[in-house]
Amino acid sequence: MKPVPGILDIAPYIGGRNEAAGHARVFKLSSNESPLGPSPKAIEAFKAASGSLHLYPEGSAAALRAAIADVFDLSAERIVCGNGSDELLHLLPQIYAGPGDEVLFSEHGFLVYKIAALAASAVPVIAPEPNLVTDVDALLARATPKTKVVFVANPNNPTGSYNTAAELRRLRAGLPKECLLVIDAAYAEYVNRNDYESGLELAATTENTVMTRTFSKIYGLAALRVGWAYGPPGVIDALNRIRGPFNVSTAGQAAAIAAMRDRAHVDVCAAHNAKWLHWLAERITATGLKVRSSVGNFLLIEFEPTGAKTAAAADQFLMQRGVILRGVAAYGLPNCLRISVGTEDGNKAAVSALEEFMSAT
Ligand SMILES: *Cc1c(COP(=O)(O)O)cnc(C)c1O
Repeated sequence: MKPVPGILDIAPYIGGRNEAAGHARVFKLSSNESPLGPSPKAIEAFKAASGSLHLYPEGSAAALRAAIADVFDLSAERIVCGNGSDELLHLLPQIYAGPGDEVLFSEHGFLVYKIAALAASAVPVIAPEPNLVTDVDALLARATPKTKVVFVANPNNPTGSYNTAAELRRLRAGLPKECLLVIDAAYAEYVNRNDYESGLELAATTENTVMTRTFSKIYGLAALRVGWAYGPPGVIDALNRIRGPFNVSTAGQAAAIAAMRDRAHVDVCAAHNAKWLHWLAERITATGLKVRSSVGNFLLIEFEPTGAKTAAAADQFLMQRGVILRGVAAYGLPNCLRISVGTEDGNKAAVSALEEFMSAT
């Protein structure tokens, strides 16, 4: 039987590798996971959920939505939780774009957007990104009456770049009103720039803007698959109609609530990230490699396109030392590797290996 158009054009998403053959100690810096893990209170809440594994979860994630609404001062009715933000990113094009409609995003944007567009049988449209920063004008130039969804990751993965609040306001203002703008703010908690805004404000004040967030990154709960979206009542209502009725597990809800409440732990994680992001950028630059400025929990490293110091050679060299980075050729960046900020040990192991790689003749 033949899948509907688009499905077989999808290149399956391949996550960051987690094994380096023959190494007892491996530093996995390939998936932007939290090096400090979740709040101990989240782990406790997860364990406590083991007593009710035979019961279906509370389907509307009411307690989790209430906790999010409380922390961010939002209306809980305008929040929907997902099985990771990934689920919500997939559902939005299914709701708003069909065959022949266009889903627009930036050249080096998150890979899930293309998959989500094709899964809805919509046409993915890619705006060029000359400086590895999402280009608002390039997006606007490609918006047509057929454009139904625009995805912007802010900050973007894997480039680490971001758009200012003013730029996103300009994007929203320039798009047709009947086009959904999705601001994917998976890394919002790491950003410390005065001109940045996660998208909450835009989603609150404009008609067709949605912001998505995740518990997979700074909250350290990637295994539990919990994300959320905040948007206009009509969008939230549509998401609630087609999402899985029990899409967020009981343990996931409980752990996410505890994680959301432990602001001190979030602060510790943000401080760890700021310190080591800076350190990694400095030390990697000192090896002669080029590093892109990043506001996330990862850095994009640029290698020579040819010769002995290519991204592929570095990747292999580091793997042999138990350090796993992320190849980003699938993002149109074949000469780059992405490194997540790790533990102190992981960061030091990665830098030592890169120093050794660059000084080898
Ligand atoms: C990691 C990441 C997410 C989070 O996905 P989850 O499904 O919530 O784990 C979303 N968007 C981007 C750009 C990411 O890098």
